[in-house]
Amino acid sequence: MLFGTNGIRGTFEELTPELALKASQGIGIYFKKGKIGIARDARLTGECLSNAVKSGLLSVGCEVVDFGVISSPTAEFMVKKLGLDGVIIVTASHNPPEWNGLKVVDGKGINISKERGGKIEELMDEIKTSKWDNVGTVEKYERAVDEHIEEMIKHLDVEKIRKAKLKVVLDCGNGTAVTVAPKLFKELGCEIVTLNSHMDGTFPGRPSEPSEENVKELIEMVKKEKADCGIAWDGDGDRVIYVDEKGGYVIGDKVFGISVIQKLNEKKGQIVTTVATSKLIEDLGNRFGIKTIYTKVGAPYLSEEMDKGGAVIGGEEVGGVIWPEISYAKDGMYTAAKMLELLSGEKLSEIVLGMPNYMQIKEKIRVDEKNKMKAIERVRKYAKGKGRIIDVDGIRVDFKDSWVIARPSGTEPYIRVFAEAKEKKKAEELVKEYSKIIKSSE
Ligand code: MG
Repeated sequence: MLFGTNGIRGTFEELTPELALKASQGIGIYFKKGKIGIARDARLTGECLSNAVKSGLLSVGCEVVDFGVISSPTAEFMVKKLGLDGVIIVTASHNPPEWNGLKVVDGKGINISKERGGKIEELMDEIKTSKWDNVGTVEKYERAVDEHIEEMIKHLDVEKIRKAKLKVVLDCGNGTAVTVAPKLFKELGCEIVTLNSHMDGTFPGRPSEPSEENVKELIEMVKKEKADCGIAWDGDGDRVIYVDEKGGYVIGDKVFGISVIQKLNEKKGQIVTTVATSKLIEDLGNRFGIKTIYTKVGAPYLSEEMDKGGAVIGGEEVGGVIWPEISYAKDGMYTAAKMLELLSGEKLSEIVLGMPNYMQIKEKIRVDEKNKMKAIERVRKYAKGKGRIIDVDGIRVDFKDSWVIARPSGTEPYIRVFAEAKEKKKAEELVKEYSKIIKSSE
């Protein structure tokens, strides 16, 4: 199986130029040989792999629009803007520098799921290249970043942000956030301090996952500079985290929570999130009398659900937020810029303090592939009648102020158990209780 929940990912030994070429031929046929965009991040293998992708698409007769090095949200926005049939982004998001990947996005701006990827894999078995006079052509497109920024500005309260005269530290993690963030935040009238803000495919500044331990330098810089906030993105700019004015790390769940409050204050509609997301999102929705819809874990499932209509915002637990007014993909640039609207009246630490707070405990239990489903069924039976059961991806049991999920890994011999409660002890007890049920079969 090549496709996972994030398209194709692997080290350069696994995702070779040969494989990238073949996969792109399959993708070109899947998109009915239409007009397809290509973008990439700044990884050292990016040029090599994106040329293979280009050849693959051209060989089956696609017209190619080459965006060069841009962030994933910019590329995903351009699908709608230019009416493309799809886009392939050569990126491995937050993975280490030796990795790369193909993120495949359809004409609606929806990331291709594992299931749809399976269809592409079938097409790869019988590739027929075009005749010599029918291969595609390439158009270079250099205005993507400007157009993405123009669109964001249209939806932001620019005057409000400008008036606040904010000082912001931007940690682009040497990724493609560099192409957008400094320019965007300057246009918003912010005083900017930059960190790791030159592109470098070896990620010399910090690992590209913006976890708390990876953004220590940003935390120090925010305090030293007495900035209003710090902002850090992952390698391809679709996910974002904040640091408040006191140097407090704002986790992804709360980044999403802040976005939810902003959105629901402007427009009422459903929230879409995955079953692995904090209950704080549903709690916030309840404050507005708004329903939260749970999907399987993975951005494609969020976008597919949002495409059904009715939802005004979607997001993942790791700081990836979808704003349908921009695109059906996570946009870490717009998410962060939108947050600045709030800082004209309040401190970021105060906003975070006003949100529901849950303690999280995670564990993974080794379970052989053949026993996974049996263990999950045992959890279902055990949980019956104890709380609200959500079974779109593993079994999640929701109680009043806590919840627990048992979810089989798609790629490894594990079942993940994750619990959240107001007190740490309660979350620990839930993980222990449900782990015992899973282990009892082994
Ligand atoms: Mg990413």
